[in-house]
Amino acid sequence: MNKSIIQLTEKHVAGNYGRYPIALVKGKGSKVWDKSGKQYIDFVSGLAVDNLGHCHPSVVSAIKKQSEKLIHVSNLYHIEPQSQLAEKITSLSFADKVFFCNSGTEANEAAIKLARRYFFDQGQPGRTEIITMFNSFHGRTLGSLSATAQTKLHTGFKPLLPGFKYIPFNDLPSARKAITKKTCAILVEPMQGEGGVNIPDPSYLKELKKLCQKNGILLIFDEVQTGFGRTGRLFAHELYKIKPDLITLAKALGGGLAIGALAGSNRIMKSFVPGTHGATFGGNPLACAAALASLKVLTGKNFLNKTRATGKYFLKCLEKISHKNPIVKEVRGEGMFLAMELNKPAADIVNNCMKRGFLINCIQLNVLRFIPPLVITRKEIDSLIPVLSDCLNKLSDQ
Ligand SMILES: *Cc1c(COP(=O)(O)O)cnc(C)c1O
Repeated sequence: MNKSIIQLTEKHVAGNYGRYPIALVKGKGSKVWDKSGKQYIDFVSGLAVDNLGHCHPSVVSAIKKQSEKLIHVSNLYHIEPQSQLAEKITSLSFADKVFFCNSGTEANEAAIKLARRYFFDQGQPGRTEIITMFNSFHGRTLGSLSATAQTKLHTGFKPLLPGFKYIPFNDLPSARKAITKKTCAILVEPMQGEGGVNIPDPSYLKELKKLCQKNGILLIFDEVQTGFGRTGRLFAHELYKIKPDLITLAKALGGGLAIGALAGSNRIMKSFVPGTHGATFGGNPLACAAALASLKVLTGKNFLNKTRATGKYFLKCLEKISHKNPIVKEVRGEGMFLAMELNKPAADIVNNCMKRGFLINCIQLNVLRFIPPLVITRKEIDSLIPVLSDCLNKLSDQ
């Protein structure tokens, strides 16, 4: 029954994704079902999007209500759910103002443009260079791709946008050396996602912030993946008790709907004057209504406390099986942003887990990433662990 969908996809959909041979047609909480009715526990969450689980009733109800009222109007006019969502995001963060778009890559494009424009407005038009990190991921459009320091993603797409300088993540001396009179910003994921779930030393981001302040340049956090509770805090940078100048958001923001955002202080955001930037669908009523409903649940009493507790439990479970298996190099992560690095390619494990009813994800060839809905239960985690352990044993015997 999955087959006809797969055939249609293969015949008519662009082949830019490597897809697993199942078609998911239904979801509820931490579970999804394929066309044949087979159930899976989802440790992927649509790539850190479905943080509340699939089809959360609050989000579904908000979408239903808003879709009967108003789905889209232009940003030529004021939009009620957009204004409310901006107020909500600023009340929950360091930011004063929000620009809305539709995706993570667009949020980063906006940040790149704003950083340049801010210094242009300051009478420093020569400050155009942005420092980014190896193994970062900022998106697929040309600006964000140029910011993304992974050469394998650049193949065949040159020339890239000029004005980016790459340095190692979690390496302060390199950052110090890289800053020049041309630098306008450092763009960094507080914890790297696609690059392998890389958590920096506790002092790294704090020192980076000091360095930016000292040099009068902007610190931009890409929290597209780490935002909205993924790491057990609403935003990952809260863990380090520092504030960036700008933050980019998307993925889980809309409770499953496509929405992205760039948020920052008035001082910087004020460079986005009329005509400087825009997005037709950015901040549309439907996506904003879904985001508002989703944020209400995420910021509800005890929601993130529970995420942190369950995340700790999950990490312990992963550590336990890793100690028994020599192919596991390291288990790491924060909240529900977890990974297991192997010293062997991990693709077989993903396939085997899928056959046995668990969706997990593999990045950088040898890193298993676990990013379940934040509402996942200990019981659901418990059901994965013996299967994963078994798959690890099989792979280590090969
Ligand atoms: C996914 C991701 C992006 C890109 O988001 P899209 O919505 O796919 O454009 C950017 N930055 C980070 C950190 C991401 O994880």
